[in-house]
Amino acid sequence: MSPTRTGIAYDSHRLVEGRPLVLGGVTIPDAPLGLDGHSDADVLTHAVMDALLGAAALADIGDHFPDSEERYAGAESIALLGEVLEIVRRAGFAPVNVDATVICEAPRLGPFRDAMRERLAASLGLGLDAVGVKFTTNEGMGAIGRGEGIAAMAVATLR
Ligand code: MG
Repeated sequence: MSPTRTGIAYDSHRLVEGRPLVLGGVTIPDAPLGLDGHSDADVLTHAVMDALLGAAALADIGDHFPDSEERYAGAESIALLGEVLEIVRRAGFAPVNVDATVICEAPRLGPFRDAMRERLAASLGLGLDAVGVKFTTNEGMGAIGRGEGIAAMAVATLR
């Protein structure tokens, strides 16, 4: 049995007007606020990418896709996830599974869970049973609880 490696990640982005809300590569319809960032600010996909890179000890997405590079302006993070997969593959690893939690007060994201899992799984070449996405609120506490932004945590296992 080949040894496995585990990575962990956390990300957060601020909610602002005039931006689409994209999570796990899925645009949430009619969301009044979207996440602010250089790319599409898909906080869930960012956490998954950083967990994968972390499991391979290959730094983080800020290193591989710097904000200073114009080609990443408005980039679709779900497409960059495919590039992360190539990076970890080149280092000799293959993903086994990923699991993530999105911390969000509003809107309710449950109806979009499977669409997010499908997009993440497709980008990673994984089965749906190897991609977990969960949602929780922060019970009104702190900045995330006040709805000022959305955060995400993820773990990834590589072999
Ligand atoms: Mg981010």
